[in-house]
Amino acid sequence: MNYYSVPSDFKKETIDEYERLNRQYDDGMVLETYGSITRGKVLASGRLVRQMQKIDFLDLYEYIKYSSARGIGFNYTLNPTHFQNREFTEDGVRVTKEHLHKLFEAGVRSITVTLPSLTELVQSTGLDFKIRTSCLCQIRNANRATAYKNMGVDKIVVDESINRDFYALKSIRKVFGEKVEIIVNQICDQNCMYRMFHYNMISGDPDRLTSQVSINYYEHRCVLQQLKTIDNCLKLCWVRPEDLHYYTGIGINYFKIQGRHAFIQGGDAVKTVKAYLDKTYEGNLMDLLMMFGDLTKFKVNLDNKKLDGYIKPFVENDRFCRHNCSECRYCENFLRKRFDVAEIEGIRRMAAEFLGEYDQYKKLLASVKKEEIQQLPTDINADFDL
Ligand code: SF4
Repeated sequence: MNYYSVPSDFKKETIDEYERLNRQYDDGMVLETYGSITRGKVLASGRLVRQMQKIDFLDLYEYIKYSSARGIGFNYTLNPTHFQNREFTEDGVRVTKEHLHKLFEAGVRSITVTLPSLTELVQSTGLDFKIRTSCLCQIRNANRATAYKNMGVDKIVVDESINRDFYALKSIRKVFGEKVEIIVNQICDQNCMYRMFHYNMISGDPDRLTSQVSINYYEHRCVLQQLKTIDNCLKLCWVRPEDLHYYTGIGINYFKIQGRHAFIQGGDAVKTVKAYLDKTYEGNLMDLLMMFGDLTKFKVNLDNKKLDGYIKPFVENDRFCRHNCSECRYCENFLRKRFDVAEIEGIRRMAAEFLGEYDQYKKLLASVKKEEIQQLPTDINADFDL
């Protein structure tokens, strides 16, 4: 049986759809939805508050009650990559414990956490929460998986950058046990230099430490990262529905759909999870990765069926990808054989021109002129005689 964790839009009719799907399939089910509140006293999660539905504790309570009556669980995301060091202050601990008690009263029994310090804080409440590590814990090998297991977490979501590293996946599965989850419709570049910093920025959102400039900075660079080379669309960390059997074959049966932020752009979680339950999908893979939401104008057309066989070398040789593309070129050669490279080049060019022109950070940097910078007197003599 394959189990899916799906982003929540907090609508009862969507839960009805999942209940219908769960009756329809005998080898896969929507196990739970996940999300967080965005109204009232909000603690940070892995998404911007402004990009999610307006939900308070009461909405959460009613939603969880409705879901559990239909056999669908809920996982609360409390997964910032930093907490402004609040967890190390008496006031911070008090506020967080109050929040956790309210979550428990609302029916939450499962929480996704990133920070080890926050994990200890949750455990210290004595409330019966099952704790799951976030993909932001960057679990990429057996040793780190073991460390979290020893900490008492119930389930781990591995770092998506190892989605094609079958050696790492197998060894993690072996030491941790069956509750290992991977994100399937992942759109991040495997080696994205911005990723953790992007999440650090998001983690400051409830404390109003974000701005249009910071959001624009990472969103633009995220798109540019996806398009940094013609073949980079292959190097995003996705798992196609057709390739799920390679993962179930090594004992991984928990799969997560990402895309909480896609709902406000027309995202459709039911259609997305259905493709994975069907284990087949006809269309542009990029649409599936974006949960069919209108998230970017610069989307390459990656006919999913033309990707048949792409992942095979990764499975057959579990050390196949050495992350040294200039010497390997497997992905580029695969892409050139099966896809219209000129079309991808055109989209890359348009993205670079448009996103370069409307880059708020570059404008901010240019707005502070050299002559405006206060030159402080210093005793340092920079004219070293070497
Ligand atoms: S090293 Fe080879 S297989 Fe790995 S991402 Fe680069 S081109 Fe693809």
